[in-house]
Amino acid sequence: MIISKKTPKKEILRLGSHCEKSNHCCSFTSGFLAPDDLTRIAQFFGMKKQEVKEKYLEEVEIFNKKALRPKRDIKDKDRPYGACVFLDEKGCKIHDVKPLHCKVYTCKPFGFQLTQWFYLNYLLDTDDPEAIRQYAQFLQTNDPIPGGHLEELVPDKEKLDKILDYSILKQEREEE
Ligand code: SF4
Repeated sequence: MIISKKTPKKEILRLGSHCEKSNHCCSFTSGFLAPDDLTRIAQFFGMKKQEVKEKYLEEVEIFNKKALRPKRDIKDKDRPYGACVFLDEKGCKIHDVKPLHCKVYTCKPFGFQLTQWFYLNYLLDTDDPEAIRQYAQFLQTNDPIPGGHLEELVPDKEKLDKILDYSILKQEREEE
């Protein structure tokens, strides 16, 4: 099975549905929200989006971008792991509206490829040089899925080289 950046979402969700609901990963971390997720979670609770953000979500930075995820019960700041705020003894309290990242992730061997699909389609801004540099660091310890190689994301080799050697900075792009 080959999972690539272009694999349709429907197929990714099908693969993610192989989750065995052991709640193991939810005991240590939480999934990132896709843009529509906050609206659905707010509707589920009958709350305003801002209220949901304040009560249940935390903002984290990944690939130079702010992303939302359910709060984690982190007891030791030197060990940033903790159970998701939506996990209880029966499982995920918001199962039907849980974040897209939670829906696609699974403990199966291909689970991390599904996470990479999510990163590439929802979190990585290929127009942001700093995001590309951070993603390049990520690739130092992770093999990319097809469509996730740096040369595919930034086909202009000269531009890619300039991004990676910091000749192109985000500020310069913003001033263009
Ligand atoms: S929202 Fe649900 S599925 Fe996602 S990490 Fe939390 S408990 Fe797990």
